[in-house]
Amino acid sequence: MKIEFLGGVRTVTGSATLLEKDSLKWLVDCGMFQGGKEIEKKNYGTGSYHPRNLSFILLTHAHIDHSGLIPKLVREGFRGKVVCTKATLDLCEVMLRDSGHIQEMEAEWQNRKDRRSGGKGATPLYTVKDAEKSLRFFSPVNYNEIISLTDGLKVRFQDAGHILGSAIIELWVEEGGEGKKLVFSGDLGSSGQPIVRDPSWIKEADLLWLESTYGNRFHKSREETSQELLKIVQEAIAHQAKVIIPAFAVERTQDIVYTLGQFMREGLIPSIPVYIDSPLAISATEIFKKNSDCFDRETKEILLRGENPLDRPEIIYTRTTEESKAINEDKGPGIIISASGMCDSGRIKHHLKHHLWREKSHIVIIGYQGEGTIGRRIVDGAESVRLFGEEIAIKAHIHTLGGFSAHADQKGLLEWLSHFENPQLEVFVNHGEEKVSMELSQLIRERFNLKAEVPLGREKRILFAPEERPISEEAREEEVAPEETFHILLRHLDRNYKRLRRKLKRWGGMGEEAQDPHRLRQLEEVNRKIEELESEL
Ligand SMILES: [Zn+2]
Ligand SMILES: [Zn+2]
Repeated sequence: MKIEFLGGVRTVTGSATLLEKDSLKWLVDCGMFQGGKEIEKKNYGTGSYHPRNLSFILLTHAHIDHSGLIPKLVREGFRGKVVCTKATLDLCEVMLRDSGHIQEMEAEWQNRKDRRSGGKGATPLYTVKDAEKSLRFFSPVNYNEIISLTDGLKVRFQDAGHILGSAIIELWVEEGGEGKKLVFSGDLGSSGQPIVRDPSWIKEADLLWLESTYGNRFHKSREETSQELLKIVQEAIAHQAKVIIPAFAVERTQDIVYTLGQFMREGLIPSIPVYIDSPLAISATEIFKKNSDCFDRETKEILLRGENPLDRPEIIYTRTTEESKAINEDKGPGIIISASGMCDSGRIKHHLKHHLWREKSHIVIIGYQGEGTIGRRIVDGAESVRLFGEEIAIKAHIHTLGGFSAHADQKGLLEWLSHFENPQLEVFVNHGEEKVSMELSQLIRERFNLKAEVPLGREKRILFAPEERPISEEAREEEVAPEETFHILLRHLDRNYKRLRRKLKRWGGMGEEAQDPHRLRQLEEVNRKIEELESEL
């Protein structure tokens, strides 16, 4: 059994681990690297495997830093199964499509720039179409069920309490008469988070991948944080001002809506407009409503009383750009929740431009702000930030409320870890900034006397093997047998040709439309390419 740490090590994004046993290869998570040009270059890299040789992608949850490269792998030939919970599939449907859209927009922007400067142009990492196609490979499973994927490989998804559908993955791997249990924490929520259930405790494992996003921090309690938010909102109301909350479309937005609804239910604040200005957050909220079986007891009780905590009359969902712009016309007090959570893209940038310079406005940061993002600069006390080519002074009240985080803090992580019973447990600390992961791994060594370390990116390990042998580079390159590639491509060609033929036949029957000059040119081009290929062969 071999592993390779592909991403999400010494950084918070790009989560992916390659696992191999016998001739089987699979991934746990397939995340996108995010947070600036340099790190995002890694998304274009090719792995030490070919996507078409992967049998499975086991997905902990829908966040793009865990799922975002799945469409790229499908585009490059992945035809295996993406195994995840049903709610994760539902969320991926909107999130991957949205991500495809962002990729297309970014490539288009780059192309416009390159046309002016004579650059070579860009192709998107993947498109909306690729994202849609990738959904066909998803195979949802239930929480808590042990599923046999193939001989000697079993998996179970347990609640991770991070976002809707999020899971801890337990894997039982057998090879050459040996067996080990691997556990991937995925992103772990903190207990007491609204809507989702608390993280499950796992007792047994030989190897554990443990996230460390907040491995060196302590969140205030949710109760204290709610009180802080309440005070901020009350002050904004007193000054007829707005509260701007940059929030991740999934979970944070719904948590805040839930909490604000609670303030109104309890009469702590009057009924004021709460704008959800993010099409993605709106779609995500619809998915939450569809997956109420994943809710915790408290949320289910509110539903049973005939109320939907995500659907109150004060909540205004703004989908179109016009509706979004109209928010600026509202001069009274109100709350605007918008994405992206790190203030780097999306409609939040417009709201920040309108409010950062206003002394009475409040900006409430509730989520993790990655290095290099606009959100991080705001949190770190910058005097101004650049938005849409304009320097905007920061005069508004800036608040950071850690207690709404969807990630466990140091105390939460260690408490979760304390339930493991195996004194031989080996821990790989991942999904954190380097310094934070190091700090947490040291603490684990000291406090639990366990083997804990922070792996390197692209580091390969042999966990156990019938006969141990080093993994040579040649052996890796050999993995795509040439005949195999040829036959797969040939099968694709046959399938594509048949589909094209069917479409063209339909076109032929459409009279005038069959004379469309653009279509005729395309057909001419296809014929020319086939003739060319034939003469070359
Ligand atoms: Zn996450
Ligand atoms: Zn993550």
